[in-house]
Order: sequence, then C-alpha cells, then structure tokens
Amino acid sequence: MTQPSLIEIRDAIRSGQTSSREYVQTTLQRIEQLEHRLGMLISHDAERALAQAEQIDAKIARGEPVGELAGVPILIKDNLCTRFGTTTAGSRILENYRAPYDAHVVERLQQAGAVIVGKTNLDEFAMGSSTENSAFKPTRNPWDLERVPGGSSGGSAAAVAAGVVAGTLGSDTGGSIRQPAAFCGVCGLKPTYGRVSRYGLLAYGSSLDQIGPFARNVRDLALLLHTIAGKDHRDSTSVDEPVPDYVAALDRPLRRMRIGYAEEYFGEGLDPEVRAAVEAALDVYRAAGAEVVPVHLPHMKYAIACYYVVAVAEASSNLARYDGVHYGHRTARPKDYLDVYCSSRQEGFGAEVRRRIMLGTYALSSGYYDAYYLKALKVRTLIRQDFEHAFADVDVIASPTTPTPAVRIGEKTSDPLAMYLMDIYTVSVNLAGIPGLSIPCGFTRAGLPIGLQLMGSHFAEEKLLRIAHEYQSRTDWHTKSPALAQP
Ligand code: GLN
Repeated sequence: MTQPSLIEIRDAIRSGQTSSREYVQTTLQRIEQLEHRLGMLISHDAERALAQAEQIDAKIARGEPVGELAGVPILIKDNLCTRFGTTTAGSRILENYRAPYDAHVVERLQQAGAVIVGKTNLDEFAMGSSTENSAFKPTRNPWDLERVPGGSSGGSAAAVAAGVVAGTLGSDTGGSIRQPAAFCGVCGLKPTYGRVSRYGLLAYGSSLDQIGPFARNVRDLALLLHTIAGKDHRDSTSVDEPVPDYVAALDRPLRRMRIGYAEEYFGEGLDPEVRAAVEAALDVYRAAGAEVVPVHLPHMKYAIACYYVVAVAEASSNLARYDGVHYGHRTARPKDYLDVYCSSRQEGFGAEVRRRIMLGTYALSSGYYDAYYLKALKVRTLIRQDFEHAFADVDVIASPTTPTPAVRIGEKTSDPLAMYLMDIYTVSVNLAGIPGLSIPCGFTRAGLPIGLQLMGSHFAEEKLLRIAHEYQSRTDWHTKSPALAQP
C-alpha cells in the first residue's frame, strides 16, 4: 500500500472527507507502535496536537479560510526553537531548555495551519552522519533496524519512511537532510543558502546551515519549501528573492534538460550497486529527452578537508554560548568561577561535540589560522567557482547522494574519519551555498534504499524540483515503503 502524500492528506482534510483529528490520531498511534523500535522522537505532545487539530476542523466546518497545510501533522527536528515543549538539539546541555520564541519556520508552518506533533531525534547539535551522536538514543533505519537512518536529521527521515507523518523539517550543514533521505528512501531538499530564514535554528556552522523539508515525493517538498521560504528581517542572510509557486511550476513542461555528470562523484569508494542505480537514473533522464553531459569539478577532492575545517571552526565559535550561565546545564558544585564553564561544558557536551570544539578552536588559533581556516576559505571559493563554471553549461548536476547504502549501527562510530567520509558527495553543496536534493532511485539486493542527488545553481530550486519531479513521473521508487510502515 502506498502512503498518502502531504497534499493528499491536506486535500482530504480540506474537503471534509477526513478530519485533522483523525490524521493526528493516526500519527499518534504510529508513534505509539513504532517509537520504541525506531527512536525517531525526542518529544511530542499529544494533547496539544489534538487540540490544534480540533480547532482546524472547527474552522473548516464553519467554512472559514484555512492555510496551505491546514490540519496536516508534521514533525520537526529538535534543533528548531519552539515556545512549546523543549528544544534540546540532541544534547544533555539543553536537555530541559525551553526556548522563549518560535523559529521562523515554525511560525510559517503554524500560520499555514500545520499541526506540529513533536520534535525529532538528531546527532547532538547536528554533528554527525548517523544519529548515533544523539545524547538520548540512536534512531534506527525503518528498512533495517540494525542500520543507521543517516544523520544528523535521522529522526525526521525515519519518521517519513515509517509512515508516521508525510512531511518533516530538518537542517543541512553538510548533508544532514540529503544523506538521511537517501538512507531512508525518502526525498529531502537542502535549499540555497539564504532561501530559508535560520532564525530560531540552533547554529552549528552558520555559513553552511540551511533548513529544509523531507517528504515522500517532490510535489510535497515543493509545497513545504513554498511554506517556509522567503526573506525574514531577523536573519540578515535570508535573501529577498521572490518565492515562486514551486508546486504549480512542477506541471509546466521542461523545454530542455541538460544534466551534468561529474567523474569526481563516481570515483574510489563508491559502492557498485549505488553506482549502477545512479547510472540507471541517468538513463531514465536520457529516455525523457535529456542530454547528459560531462562537467568537471576539479576541487571536489578537497571538499571533505575544507568542510571539516570551516564547519568545526564555526561550531567552536557558535557553541561558546553554552557556558553554564546563559543556557542549559550548569554543573552542581563548581570549585570556582572558571569551573562553572569548564565542568558545565564537560558534563553537558558529548564526545563528538567536544572533539569538534577542540578542532575548531585549534584551526582558529593564532599561528594556525592562516594555515587552516584561511586556507579552507580559499578552497571554498574554488569549489564554488567549479560549480559556477559547470552551471554555465548544465541545468543540474546528478550524483549519488552517498557512497554506500545505510551502514550498520556502530559500524563507523570508532573511526571519526570514516564517518566524515560518508559526507563526501554532500558537503560541497553547502560550501558553494547551492541547493541540492536527494530522491530515491533504487534498492540494493539486500533491500536498502539508494539516493540520487541533484544539485542546482543558486536560487534555482524551481528548476531543480521540476527536473526531480520529471524523474518521479517516470519511476515509482518513491512510492515504496518498508514493511513496518504498513498499518
Ligand atoms: N555529517 C556532517 C557533519 O557532521 C553534516 C552534518 C549536518 O549537515 N548537520 O558535520
């Protein structure tokens, strides 16, 4: 059975065919059945969600106008601030933190009438590729409970794959939306840097972070992007570009499609089954009349090194605010004033976060700044220029989202570098600030999902989504769900 899409749920509620209350109840039942097996959520509030659903149902019954997502249950990553409940970022240091304001995207979802049922699990402060770095619990992959869902937005990806909700939000600093989307067989979009306001997103790498949606198909991604995109004066890096009607654009015919194929994405370490699935996806495009042309991204080979300098440098600065004074956990019996900081941070942060703070502090320290941080910024410019040159000739670039399918729980935890290498195909998109998405393009023989990544030029989400939609109109990979998603 195929799971209903976000738009189908929205339309069923709007027409009175079903109520929001019914859908929210189904979501709550699915959470009840699956949460102990999957570990998708950090918190949820059934009473609040049901009350909101009833309000929407009453409005619809009275014939009052309602928003684009009226009554639709949604889950959001727990690094997005909400006035209700807690906002933990998957960290002990914020275990009981209650945000005094809503993130911009939360306001937008609520204005559209969405019912935010709960908040999803993540790697602590979004640092990781497997959701094993959550301070609370790992999330499991709905296709194989012994495997990771990817990360850091693992809970958001798993919840869509498991049929708990049809749409979620995550954040993507180096792949945290696209990589778990690929591992869980769902769709995920990282918008252009500046497309969506980061106001109320707990910062990791501020020049890389973007918020974006997960869903089962591209049409739903388009609707969610339309809901959250646009200028917000509270994030000065959000851009005042018009927000097109991404959903309506999907049905306009594409006059031409030039798809870039970069050798650099098909090199060493790429699993043969992943390669075959992505090559087959390119054949689908060829059959649709697209031209597949070679492009060159010569600086791609430095992307991981560059990303893991820039991201950790920014993280070390951003995480300085968790000092035991302003926010969150404070050590119980400090020896002295300095110990308030040291012990609070030592107790509050997990091992990976501490590792990154140390790496970032080192890369920014005098004597090393020029050798590491400044050098990485220069490499970053070269990577961005590689993409600019490529996009002068093609509409999108296609690649695998990840070099392998989902790995086993624990498989990479003892080797941080091996974990970082899982991000090899995703980080350059963030370094360049361009949009990228992942859609399902097949399965391995063992039944694990494979993701196709499509990358576009700055603010070209409309074209990117249309080209992704073209693939989904010719294939049915995105309609498959794991056995446990069947009610
Ligand atoms: N895995 C990458 C990291 O750990 C990306 C995480 C993310 O996009 N938030 O930094």
